[in-house]
Amino acid sequence: MKKNHYELIILGGGPAGLTAGLYASRARIDHVLIEKGAPGGQVLSTDWVDNYPGFPEGLSGFDLMEKMTSHAKRFDVNILTKEVASINLDNHESKKVIFSDESSITCDSLIICTGASPNKIGVPGEAELAGKGVSYCGTCDAPFYRNMHVAVIGGGDTAIEEADYLTRFASRVTIIHRRDELRATKILQEMAFANKKIDYIWNSRVTAIEGDKEVERLQLIDNDGNKSTFDVQGVFILIGITPNNDLLPLEQLNPDKWGFIQTDAETRTVIPGVFAAGDIRSKLMRQVVNACGEGANAVIAAEHYLVSAHK
Ligand code: NAP
Repeated sequence: MKKNHYELIILGGGPAGLTAGLYASRARIDHVLIEKGAPGGQVLSTDWVDNYPGFPEGLSGFDLMEKMTSHAKRFDVNILTKEVASINLDNHESKKVIFSDESSITCDSLIICTGASPNKIGVPGEAELAGKGVSYCGTCDAPFYRNMHVAVIGGGDTAIEEADYLTRFASRVTIIHRRDELRATKILQEMAFANKKIDYIWNSRVTAIEGDKEVERLQLIDNDGNKSTFDVQGVFILIGITPNNDLLPLEQLNPDKWGFIQTDAETRTVIPGVFAAGDIRSKLMRQVVNACGEGANAVIAAEHYLVSAHK
């Protein structure tokens, strides 16, 4: 018989959601994990993951997420493949998930693991060469660019911090920015300007990313309309990330100014029984390793909530 109420609903099947599912299942919590497509999230399209502990040789994002999914299935995580239209949190005792087909289910507690997506520049070659020289994460991919020349697109805190980090590996890092001054905080700017391995192309945009099998060059246009070609071996697109929060009643969840959900250290949001884990959480570092930890943490916090709510 189909159920329409659960103790716990986990929204999203990336690293945070799958780990939450694993912990919920092992804790014998009556749960369902809802994911609209194949479980795995953003990591599925990550070419190579070299910083997830326990895999000393590294592995593809696809393989890592396949292993996490098999692990969840071994413990009978209840995965429902269905598209969610919205979440209603008006009734704190019974949180409601409404599907695109207008059916709905309710729960006592909810863990939001809907993730975030890096912003794209939307030029030819960007999608085709993703993972082949196009990257959205310096912290993840910098070691693949040892002694190479790479470009960073963007002028915010993330771009400048990551450009500086990249110089630990790359021989040269060129920041390409669409204006003549950086957006990043002054202290980061000072750090970047003092770094001899970083140089700049101002007032310019990338119009195409080209290469046969891997990135070889960028097509640029400056703000006066002059076109040029720039040879690089990698390009890091660091122009911000967007939280996947469309389904959520955001105004009730105390988001930060970028739309990420603020929680306490135990992943509790401002609504009793609602938790957030992974990239959708307001935080400094967005990596698989902390997404998994937060997913596990959220289940323990939810379990405490369920026990106290049923007293
Ligand atoms: P951001 O501050 O929004 O900066 C995005 C940068 O990308 C800007 O320089 C912007 O140019 C550029 N950009 C946007 N769209 C573009 C496009 N289509 N083509 C080319 N360039 C484009 O994003 P962020 O750097 O990811 O930072 C997000 C927030 O997190 C910030 O408020 C930041 O302070 C915070 N953060 C904090 C830390 C820290 O505390 N250590 C570290 C990282 C991030 P314009 O400047 O011309 O708009």
